[in-house]
Amino acid sequence: MTDQTDFPDYDDSNIFARILRGEIPSHKVFEDDDVIAFMDVMPQAPGHTLVVPKAPSRNLLDADPAVLAKLMPFTQRIARAVKKAFEADGITIMQFNEPAGGQTVFHLHVHVIPRHDGVGLKRHEGGMEKPDVLVANANKIRQALKEEDA
Ligand code: 5GP
Repeated sequence: MTDQTDFPDYDDSNIFARILRGEIPSHKVFEDDDVIAFMDVMPQAPGHTLVVPKAPSRNLLDADPAVLAKLMPFTQRIARAVKKAFEADGITIMQFNEPAGGQTVFHLHVHVIPRHDGVGLKRHEGGMEKPDVLVANANKIRQALKEEDA
């Protein structure tokens, strides 16, 4: 780990670590040895997806650069699929570090949010989406990923 002396250590009881261990469910769109992507349960727009490296780090500040090097191309792949799946005009990428930076879950993750011209974002952690909507949105993204790979 790099110098992180002024921040708390990684705590593996966080919700994304629990998702990674399969202790709680998520609506996955993709998983490989290094990363997982799943739907945000409180989406700021339909299709809001989280990209999560499996390697434990609290956020960008303590992450291994080798993990970050794999994370960004993967984020691009998910962003392209999300754009296609939701016929988005654009994509917002967000990544928060520490409470003062807006972070609420302390395992590194990147937000991928489809955007449409003239449509604002809902509030961060504004409200839970219905499970059937998350299932349908995850299916759309999985299908777009398949088409990208074809
Ligand atoms: P942060 O502020 O840490 O960047 O964002 C954490 C994100 O995780 C928020 O957008 C929030 O809606 C989402 N989130 C919180 N709890 C859960 C959960 O149990 N499952 C999923 N899929 N997302 C969650």
